[in-house]
Amino acid sequence: MPLLNVMAIPAFTDNYIWLIRGEGNKCAVVDPGDASPVMETLRREGLDLRYILLTHHHPDHIGGMPELRKHSGAVVFGPHDQRIKDIDQALREGETAWLPELGLEFAVLEVPGHTASHIVFCGHGSLFCGDTLFSVGCGRLFEGTAEQMQSSLDKLANLAPSTKVYCGHEYTRANCEFALAVEPDNQALQKKAEAVARLRERGECTLPGLLEEELAVNPFMRSREESVVRAARVRDPSAVPGAHTLAVIRHWKDHW
Ligand code: ZN
Ligand code: FE
Repeated sequence: MPLLNVMAIPAFTDNYIWLIRGEGNKCAVVDPGDASPVMETLRREGLDLRYILLTHHHPDHIGGMPELRKHSGAVVFGPHDQRIKDIDQALREGETAWLPELGLEFAVLEVPGHTASHIVFCGHGSLFCGDTLFSVGCGRLFEGTAEQMQSSLDKLANLAPSTKVYCGHEYTRANCEFALAVEPDNQALQKKAEAVARLRERGECTLPGLLEEELAVNPFMRSREESVVRAARVRDPSAVPGAHTLAVIRHWKDHW
């Protein structure tokens, strides 16, 4: 199984468009919200865009797709969602995105919560998770319930611990500050927050993180941990482990 060669293309203020390089000059991008930084990178690196992978319908993830598709003839993979035009291959859980020109394939998981039709791509030791899982955080619940987000995060928690997590945004520093309010005594989180602060002071990307680290520091992946449930109960004394606790801390973060 080839390991992936992945590069971050920053877009807007805090989005990442992930560029996956194959052998030679062929490549794919994940969630191109803006075409111009991608075009610029393709030109600079002499790359040929063959595939576009979309996790969900939000404009900051798909906005650059029509132009890139028209320019390159790249094949577009994405969720079943009428709101996204020009998808060549709509995918459901259990199906795979097959990228023959790169010799790569990615399994698809359906992860409703942030949006109803959100999907993620996993393969080659990597997870491209859009706005479902962030480093030390998770997406806002725009079109789904806390129960859905809990079961979506549970699916991701079952992937190999060594999986590299490529999220859609650079939110890690602010996420660490919130997570420390939830779990001030979590030593792994304290260390993570320090490492992230150092990276951001140098303007560096904090991604990808490892899934096993998320399980140790991300409060939204820890909604059954006693320390997280206890913090939720300060806000809502009836909080029980799991989706209810996730709902309470998600609401807390929304007003943070
Ligand atoms: Zn989004
Ligand atoms: Fe986004």
